[in-house]
Amino acid sequence: MELIVDLHTHSHYSRATSRDSTLEGLYKWGKIKGISIIGTGDFTHPSWYLELQEKLEPAEPGLFRLKEKYALEVDASLPQSIQGQAIRFILTVEISNIYSKYGKVRKLHNLIVAPTLEVVSAVGERLSHIGNLKADGRPILGLDSKELLKICLETDPNILFIPAHIWTPYFALFGSNSGFDSIQEAFEELSLEIKAIETGLSSDPFMNWRLDQLQKVAIISNSDAHSPSKLGREATVIDSKLDYFDIVQGIKTNDQRVVGTIEFFPQEGKYHYDGHRDHHVRFSPQETKQHQGICPVCHKPVTVGVDHRVDDLANHPTDYKPPNDKLVEYIIPLVEIIAEVKGTGVSSKPVLGLYEKVYSILGNEFNILRRLSIDAIKKAGFDDLSFAIDKMRKGQVVIEPGYDGVYGTIKIFQDKEERKKLSGQMSLL
Ligand SMILES: [Zn+2]
Ligand SMILES: [Zn+2]
Repeated sequence: MELIVDLHTHSHYSRATSRDSTLEGLYKWGKIKGISIIGTGDFTHPSWYLELQEKLEPAEPGLFRLKEKYALEVDASLPQSIQGQAIRFILTVEISNIYSKYGKVRKLHNLIVAPTLEVVSAVGERLSHIGNLKADGRPILGLDSKELLKICLETDPNILFIPAHIWTPYFALFGSNSGFDSIQEAFEELSLEIKAIETGLSSDPFMNWRLDQLQKVAIISNSDAHSPSKLGREATVIDSKLDYFDIVQGIKTNDQRVVGTIEFFPQEGKYHYDGHRDHHVRFSPQETKQHQGICPVCHKPVTVGVDHRVDDLANHPTDYKPPNDKLVEYIIPLVEIIAEVKGTGVSSKPVLGLYEKVYSILGNEFNILRRLSIDAIKKAGFDDLSFAIDKMRKGQVVIEPGYDGVYGTIKIFQDKEERKKLSGQMSLL
């Protein structure tokens, strides 16, 4: 069966997360978005672990469901149209590894996926001797990523270990500031145990496939949601049984069970292009090279973004397609599309009201963005929206790349005029 999987999330015990990042919050938004498997995040945090123990119960092998007494209350607050979506949880955590190797400080984030609460507590026990797991849902450990991988392999071979958002400049395997140039450099003799990597919001599979070293691993995507309403902004599509071991084996062998990924337009990510946020300098990789990597305002080196970094490490040109490529679907979150159609902010009342109305009538967000016919959206009375979703599906969007911590923007309409013209045509029809 087709499963939409989002392994990388955070609880309210992680820094800079929403108070709604609870199991109930993740469950609720999983239904609204249409996600089958949601990572719990933060499983090494002792208080979050207690919540997992209290509120979840075993479902299929290695998967968990929210206990009925908690689920019923959430279901009662949701429209009928999205209640049918079954939600399963999978145990995950992100670790921040900060250490020095080959004479340089390295900062990598790594995602760990585990099959049982016993494995989770065994991992937690080992890590509790290395750093303070209570300080943050995403603990910071002075531990080499390779040693973390070794601990996982020793604890349970069914653990899935995934270098997270591998291109983020400051906190990632291939980050331009504190990463490495290859999986081999970071993981040495354990390199072959790296079976998957996470693209992060600023890169897409096409960018990753340009590197020969990434063609042997599964390319997966997750939301890294710090608030449950951001769940599924990226996700992985898996065709497998509802079973931890089937899902994880599929990812580890990168076979046909990995169907592909649902992606942000990578330019929307905060570190796609190069530049300096404070000096409003945004450079393409070519422009950075023309400026010898220096910001014309402060004369210091610009922050090198993901596009540039990929280009530095790539073996293949931008249009390269590997023989075993997977499905890549680009989406814009529905609430952002509605905001653009309405011409107001994403968190304004009319936008949130319409968002709720749309999923109350048409069902979950992924169904609307990916599957529902344009005609059905139109017939439900959402003319402008159907037009916008059609343009998104065809990739007819206007792109302003993000840089140095500033999100990029992806617009469906060229300008206000195009939007006005559209609503004029719509009312004539
Ligand atoms: Zn991270
Ligand atoms: Zn500058």
